Amino acid sequence: MAQMPQRRAGTGQRLFLDTPVTYLKGVGPARADALRRLGIITAGDLLFHVPHRYEDASTISPISALEPGMQGTMIGTVISKGVIPTRKGLRIFQAVLRDESGMMEVSWPGQPFLDRTINKGDALLVTGTVRFFHGRQFQPREFVNLGDDADTAAGRVLSVYPATEGLSFKLLRTIIETHLDALLPQLEEYLPGDVLRAAGVPGIADALRMVHRPATLDEAMRGRSRLAFEELFFVQLLHQRARELARVHRSGISFVNRRALTSRLRESLPFQLTAAQVRSVREIFADMCSDRRMQRLLQGDVGSGKTIVALFAALLAIENGYQAAIMAPTELLAEQHARTMTQLLAPLGIAPILLTGSLPARERRAIAERLASSEPVLVVGTHALLEQTTTFAKLGFAAIDEQHRFGVEQRKALGAKGEMPDVLLMSATPIPRSLALTLYGDLDLSLLDERPPGRQPVTTGLRRESSRARVFQFVERQIAAGRQAYVVYPVIEESEKSDLKAATTMYDVLSSGPFAGRRLALLHGRVPADERDAIMRRFRDGEIDVLVATTVIEVGIDVPNATVMLIEHPERFGLSQLHQLRGRVGRGADESFCILLGDVSPDAAARLQVFARTEDGFEIAREDLRIRGMGDLFGERQSGVPTFRIADPLRDEALNERARAAAESLLEHDPGLEQPSHAGLRRVLGERYARSLELFRVG
Ligand code: ADP
Ligand code: MG
Repeated sequence: MAQMPQRRAGTGQRLFLDTPVTYLKGVGPARADALRRLGIITAGDLLFHVPHRYEDASTISPISALEPGMQGTMIGTVISKGVIPTRKGLRIFQAVLRDESGMMEVSWPGQPFLDRTINKGDALLVTGTVRFFHGRQFQPREFVNLGDDADTAAGRVLSVYPATEGLSFKLLRTIIETHLDALLPQLEEYLPGDVLRAAGVPGIADALRMVHRPATLDEAMRGRSRLAFEELFFVQLLHQRARELARVHRSGISFVNRRALTSRLRESLPFQLTAAQVRSVREIFADMCSDRRMQRLLQGDVGSGKTIVALFAALLAIENGYQAAIMAPTELLAEQHARTMTQLLAPLGIAPILLTGSLPARERRAIAERLASSEPVLVVGTHALLEQTTTFAKLGFAAIDEQHRFGVEQRKALGAKGEMPDVLLMSATPIPRSLALTLYGDLDLSLLDERPPGRQPVTTGLRRESSRARVFQFVERQIAAGRQAYVVYPVIEESEKSDLKAATTMYDVLSSGPFAGRRLALLHGRVPADERDAIMRRFRDGEIDVLVATTVIEVGIDVPNATVMLIEHPERFGLSQLHQLRGRVGRGADESFCILLGDVSPDAAARLQVFARTEDGFEIAREDLRIRGMGDLFGERQSGVPTFRIADPLRDEALNERARAAAESLLEHDPGLEQPSHAGLRRVLGERYARSLELFRVG
């Protein structure tokens, strides 16, 4: 490829933030490609490619001082290396490192490819544990290849950058280090001064110097706090602006609390509402009676009683002469809601309508006609509610149960069915309030953080492989006593790559072994939806004793007679996921059990013990977040949920609070960010968040 040396920023030539990296000294087309893969196009982008971790080289031990059993960090030069095959077919990369005090063998099982990137003479910084194995051997946890650069590392904090194929960490560090001093002074602060002061974080140039070239770990963390803060602050600005616009532009129906149907429901309920339910109903009623449109998220653990809260809201709409719709992700859940509501509403003389795709066409037409008339009805249904042929004459309230099971567009579609109906989203992923406000900041939030009284705790225990037979005997005794059981596996089919037990094979094993003569069924993601519903229905009606399944078991499904949740390979599930599964039992009068079966690592066992100890979904979610990070909490990434590069809204809870307060006071004074002093802020918002274009009309 043709090169243009005359345009390169060599020594003495001025380098700007917007200079393309291809013009940097030492960056050819191949490296520019690699940089682009990391999202680095301009010299300025380099500044924002911040280290993902640090090695504190000031705590490095001489190799001779590392004793077996110790954890430590060392720097040594590779004096020999090679790949060693083992009898089990595993290939191990081994290197011998030497420093002034001695030598140590380091071994990387299963990583023969390291042979290509680690060379004799390279200095490695390695963190890990020393163990005894043919003499002292080092088990690395992490390492950094310093190349021929051992000296620069000694005695200071080493920045480690996310690298990529064709661009080693060391090269990146060199490129960034070379240009840091030329670039930093060109950066203009874009956060307003009072925001910085209120947050107590450094300015941008200082912060970037601290993260790239810290004197101490503390300093690196201080620099990081600025970058985390600004991420949280930006998201808060967008959320709060979106909410404000919604308030201004989306006026809604002003319902009147007539205390007709709603009071009668409260009197006829077979139980008392929990304080959290009362509070949520009050918050929802306040929204519905105001002249702006409700967009509220009702969050509560499994079994916290969200359905009844939605029912109160629906009745408020109906007693005002409006229609109400409640949408659930599956036919089964819709049926269950319809059944519960039919019972609860019988004393009031109201019969909810059930609308699902499997109704005969004639019945669907009849229902469609009722909805198209202005009869104030309550309809419970599936996606069928969204179909074009379903039109509402007077929809005043729409609730979406298990909202994460629907796409953003579907959630919007139900709300678009009427003239600005009030909308309630319901979710069973319990997350702390501050985090919820960050993730769903453009919604108002009601929390059901309390369980209805009288619910039996689920006895939870971890059992080893050696008790397998006894565990299944126990389950069999439950079935003999007339109860039902779920047995859950992490995968559908066995594969050569793993030795995980799979639902399909274990279904055969269990049918002919421990549960011979019992009625079993198999349920997983590849079973067609209508068949899945049919199986769940049979399980609900007691026609199946043991349901062998993957995690597809319906969230929210209520089978009070099921008393056992047996989960194999429990270490393969997130704690929140286990919690959802456990929520399937303990719904009736009989004692229920959640059994985690398998030999797991000590780490996994500790994690599972946390789960076994508590049934508090919020505590479990916190633990899950601590261990696995944000991405896993929902099983998969939810669309519309902001992602963070540096901040961790949970760990950075205090920063997040400050970001929220700062965004609030800024928008109070300058709601559209139109003051000249906020021009920098507008520019950066526009560059980083596409959403800001619509919210602030940036650019
Ligand atoms: P979820 O929040 O998981 O959707 P549900 O609304 O399905 O929970 O409620 C779970 C069960 O608890 C239902 O059987 C419901 O009737 C019952 N329930 C709800 N609120 C109360 C209450 N305040 N006291 C006793 N039982 C309640
Ligand atoms: Mg529910």
